[in-house]
This record gives sequence, C-alpha cells and structure tokens, in this order.
Amino acid sequence: MLRRLGLIFALSIVAGGTAAGAAQAERTCADPKAALGVDRVVEIDASTGPLFGDLSGLTREESFLQPREVVLTFDDGPMPWITKSILDTLDRFCTTATFFSVGRMAIAYPATVKDVLSRGHTLGSHTWSHPLNLKRRGLDRAVDEIERGFSAIALAAGQPIAPFFRFPGLSDSDPMLAHLQSRGIATFTVDVVSNDSYIGNADRLAAYTLAQIDKRQGGIILFHDIKSATAKALPVVLAGLKQRGYKVVHMRPKAPLVPLDTYDADLEKLLVKSQPKATGVPPVIAASADASGAASHLLPFFGSPAVLKTLSGEDAEVTAISPPARVRAAATTGLHAEVGTQPERKSERVRSGQKVKSERVKRATAGEPSPFMMFGF
Ligand SMILES: [Zn+2]
Repeated sequence: MLRRLGLIFALSIVAGGTAAGAAQAERTCADPKAALGVDRVVEIDASTGPLFGDLSGLTREESFLQPREVVLTFDDGPMPWITKSILDTLDRFCTTATFFSVGRMAIAYPATVKDVLSRGHTLGSHTWSHPLNLKRRGLDRAVDEIERGFSAIALAAGQPIAPFFRFPGLSDSDPMLAHLQSRGIATFTVDVVSNDSYIGNADRLAAYTLAQIDKRQGGIILFHDIKSATAKALPVVLAGLKQRGYKVVHMRPKAPLVPLDTYDADLEKLLVKSQPKATGVPPVIAASADASGAASHLLPFFGSPAVLKTLSGEDAEVTAISPPARVRAAATTGLHAEVGTQPERKSERVRSGQKVKSERVKRATAGEPSPFMMFGF
C-alpha cells in the first residue's frame, strides 16, 4: 500500500559519469496533503516507434494506463510567462508531466526549456514550427520539420531529451510514422482534450476538462502551455483530480533521443542570437555537471540517472513497456496525403468537442491558418 500512501516527489538525481561528480538534488513536497503526486512511472522503449493514444485513425498500441490513471501533457511551448506558472503549479502539487515543445519556441526560450527538465518533467517535440496538415506536405518537408524540431529542443536543452513526439493538429500518417519508427521515436496522440485552445475562461475550462476526464475515466490529457486560461485552470484541475482519486502516471523513455547533427550549425546561430535578448546573459550552448556537481540540477529525468522516490523513501514503481514493431507503409512518392482518413477526422473532432467548420468557412479560410489552428492542437 506504499503506492497509495506515497505522494511521490522526493526527486533524487544522481550525476552520472564520475564518482566525484555524483551529487544529489532533492526536492520535497511542501504540502503532501494537498499534493497529487505521481503514482507510478511508465518507462517506454521507443525503439520500435510505437503510437499511443485514442485520437488517431492509424494502428496504435494498447493504452498503458489503468482506469482512473492520467498522464498530463502540455504542447506548443515553451512560453516563459505561461510555462513557468504551469511548472510552479505542478511543483505545488508534487506531480510531473510531459512537454511537447515547439523547436523554434525552444530556441527562443532555452532557459525555460532547461527549467522544464530541471523540475523533473519529460521533454519531447512537437515539430520545429508547428505546421498544420503535416501529412499533406511532401514527406521530405515533414521529416525536416520533425528532425529540426528535435535538434532544436535538444540544443536548447543542452542535454538529452526524450524520443517522444506529437503531431501538430494530430495530423499523422503512416509514412511519417515509418520515419519516426526508423528513428526510434514514440508518438503520442491524445485521449482527453481539455479544449483549452477554445475555452478562454479558466473556471469553464477546469469544469469541462474534469468532465471529459470523468467521461473517459482518465487517459492522456492534452493541455497547452501557451494559454493563460490553462495556467489559471490548472490548480483547479489538479485539485479536482486529487479529490476524485485519479492517479498521475509519469512517462519517461528507456533511452534518450539521438538528434541528427545536420541542423546544428544553423540552430546554434539562432540560439546565440536569441539568448542575449531572452536572458541578458551570454549563451550557454550545453550544460554538464562539473566536478562539484554544480550543474547537476540540469541533468535529464529519464533512465537510470534519475530515480523518482516516494515520500517514504521507496523507489517509485516502474512499469517498463516494449511494444513490438508494427508494419508502417512508407511513402512511395514525395507526397503522402491520406485523403481516405478525412471522414474519421471529422468525427474525431466532434468527439473531442472541437468545432467543425462548415464547407463555406473551410473554403473562405483555405490556406490561411487561423491563430487558433496555428497553435491549437
Ligand atoms: Zn500544437
């Protein structure tokens, strides 16, 4: 029953590499009674390129969640003034999440990227520039978006990140998944949509989100760390989860992402340009623990260097999963649009509470991404 008692949060991070560099950075939960904690860790072997989550028409894995378990995810950031508030709330509830960041946002705000990791969260990618309808672009352009995004986030982080990916607008396709599979990257869609792209009132957003979670009895929940309503609603949502007895599952990868070095020269220039503006201090391209372990708080939270413990000092229960490789149809031409999936997409949008545009509105706004859709999903 330790699991039930344990509001897991004492985060024990040991600097790997040298014994001299070993250092521990521990955080304790300030208010365990109000905390949500983390109930268990799911360690995902991404090497076969699995696809998780309900909102996809493509072949995907069984859910690794039990009823009344949730995974918290935040897309589209980092946006320092929103992301920081969300990180503070997650700290206050002694719980952890997965952030699917946008590459160019990460390059603009590298300090926030490092903050996400230093607080024990998992960091994945959501492409370089958040293009919509990625599956309707040529595969080469789509792959460029995916790879540049991962490289940018890894560079901004200055440390390994997770091989975890989410498609903007959940616009996935088998050929793109075949590429992700070849790179050992796991893809996540969504089980529960908070609808924070469309609900600007924090009270209504919290009520809607909790109702959706109850309807499905948990799942992978989608939020955006670029929305002020999300930051305001999050304490209410987390308190509601605690009160209803939901349990948070933390996802982490078995092994880190191996970014391509193709984009580094370009990205380093952008990072150098962005840092003085963002922080007023000289750029730090990479961080590593020195002999005194001074930078140990920047170590990544995945694999063996980081251990999530219960307040009672026990290691958190870890469930390791290794999904088998699935056959994904690679593209035979540069184009890989999947026209046949359109009707299913429509019903998914209705199911997720997203507004469906009429044909007339679709024609009027064709080729013109609205601010909602630009960073909406
Ligand atoms: Zn998005």
